[in-house]
Amino acid sequence: MPEQPELTIQGWGPGNSRVATVTGAEGAGEGSLELARDPELPLPAAARRHLARELGWTPRPTPPVAVGEIRLAPSRLPDDVRAALVDLLGEEHVRTDRGSRLRRAGGKSYLDLLRRRGGDASDAPDAVVLPGSTAETAALLALCSERDVVVVPFGGGTSVVGGLAGVDPDDRPSLSVDLSRMSGVTDVDVASSLVTVGPGMRGPALEAALAPHGLTLGHLPQSWEFATVGGYAATRSAGQASTGVGRFDDLVAGLTLATPAGVLELGHPPASAAGPDLLGLALGSEGALGVITEVRLRVRPQPRATRYEGWSFRTWADGLAGLQRLARHDLLPDVVRLSDPDETRANLLNAGGAGARLLRGSLRARGRGDGCLLVLGWEGLPPLVRARRRAAVGVLREHGAARVGRRVGESWRRHRYAAPYLRDRLMDAGLLVETLETAATWSALPAVHDAVRRALRESLGAPGRQPMVMSHVSHGYATGASLYVTVLADRDDDLPLQQWLSAKRAATDALLAAGGTLTHHHAVGADHRPWLEREVGPLGVDVLRAVKQRLDPRGVCNPGVLLPD
Ligand SMILES: Cc1cc2nc3c(=O)[nH]c(=O)nc-3n(C[C@H](O)[C@H](O)[C@H](O)COP(=O)(O)OP(=O)(O)OC[C@H]3O[C@@H](n4cnc5c(N)ncnc54)[C@H](O)[C@@H]3O)c2cc1C
Repeated sequence: MPEQPELTIQGWGPGNSRVATVTGAEGAGEGSLELARDPELPLPAAARRHLARELGWTPRPTPPVAVGEIRLAPSRLPDDVRAALVDLLGEEHVRTDRGSRLRRAGGKSYLDLLRRRGGDASDAPDAVVLPGSTAETAALLALCSERDVVVVPFGGGTSVVGGLAGVDPDDRPSLSVDLSRMSGVTDVDVASSLVTVGPGMRGPALEAALAPHGLTLGHLPQSWEFATVGGYAATRSAGQASTGVGRFDDLVAGLTLATPAGVLELGHPPASAAGPDLLGLALGSEGALGVITEVRLRVRPQPRATRYEGWSFRTWADGLAGLQRLARHDLLPDVVRLSDPDETRANLLNAGGAGARLLRGSLRARGRGDGCLLVLGWEGLPPLVRARRRAAVGVLREHGAARVGRRVGESWRRHRYAAPYLRDRLMDAGLLVETLETAATWSALPAVHDAVRRALRESLGAPGRQPMVMSHVSHGYATGASLYVTVLADRDDDLPLQQWLSAKRAATDALLAAGGTLTHHHAVGADHRPWLEREVGPLGVDVLRAVKQRLDPRGVCNPGVLLPD
């Protein structure tokens, strides 16, 4: 198939909401409530018509309340605790003003946004503190443990699983521990490909600091503009190139964890057999064991060659079989993103630019109008990129894949951080928009895909209304792959929270029953913790509780996440 003119492939991922979003400079507490960067991507008319037709949805204005109207209870932080915190951190690093508290109220899940759009900031912390070092953080945790004050670490605030909700069964006062002051590179060991960075460092700043050394981390989640290194480690994040560079877990060589019981130094590069790997306990601990105050990362040389391109499979089954075969022979590219027919159709309708119509027509003419779009990306040394691509292309063709050109791949790459901004506009027009994710073995993946779709359709469907459920595979392994699901539906304006809670419950039960994991990269947070026992068993939960009891005996470290009630 010939190369196509310019087009815009983006997608429908989760949102970087405009509502009370922490943005911009480090030291997020500075200044007034700032609005997130919003490129105002228009929703093409064809996509709007498609949504109205598919969902039985009538666009209607449902804007968020003005920031000034968001309800916020007075801070409950006792005066003497505040004074002790000021002694420890300095007056400017202990904040109880409305703006600082609102900016750390919850994360970016659909439920978070619904609450905030409705003016409810009941999950806001009583105060925000900004420690500047491991020693300050350890002292802060000891103080909070002694005074029964809850601490919720805050990185970029992009949690989509209620990780920042700060829910405490004993309803104690809570602090948001903003890590933005600890956001520098403290060591670069080029020979060992290791860098040491503060937990508050964001992706763009880290890549800018590595570039002069010819290095890159290559961890690029869709939240890359906002999320932090500490947040990635605390949630076991996966980036868009994780098939190639690995998940964030694979990139962490060591870290420092400050806990109420003391400071742990974990990990020993390049490798160690000194007992079970305690580093693994800190990865994914979501602030429930303490605060990550430093991270040692494995980095790599910047790629000298990159190649992104689009392919099309006739069916989802063909696409999965093709990827499975690539995985078995260790031929998966660094970036792999296979959309199912529903996501492919929606992405093509949502695509803008002169080439979009041409591409749609061309796919239809080739009998691939209802097929599956695959975006692939290779990065590295030029001869390796060429050789890996050549070998992969042979396998793809054997599985009936047709090439649709580099512009599709390049367009996806260029716009890969843009899609989340669409969510604001969709929510403004009366839509439910949310995502969920899992992973399963290659054998179980088709059943998991079917089960999640069925559960969401049954839960959100009604006479004359059907949700749109769109999925893609975006992280491939030899043994299986992740599955990412985006759902759009007409919002129930009377009971919007309950509408999504029921759907999420149905989808989670279904994906677990079909063999999926509770979460592949969004973490457990508050939203998934009722199901943790099904994933790790009652003994597994007990082991985690025992570790928490030792490190955090008063249970002040992010008590609302990870462990079930
Ligand atoms: C638009 C959008 C796109 C996304 N895309 C992806 C994606 O592609 N891949 C992916 O993996 N995730 C994605 N996410 C989810 C989210 O970005 C990740 O979970 C990310 O790792 C969170 O980082 P953060 O710095 O924002 O952490 P926060 O949201 O601030 O915190 C997340 C959790 O970690 C805890 N925490 C934060 N920092 C620390 C610390 N230093 N020590 C201990 N605990 C800490 C918090 O208390 C909380 O429980 C996306 C989210 C959004 C909104």
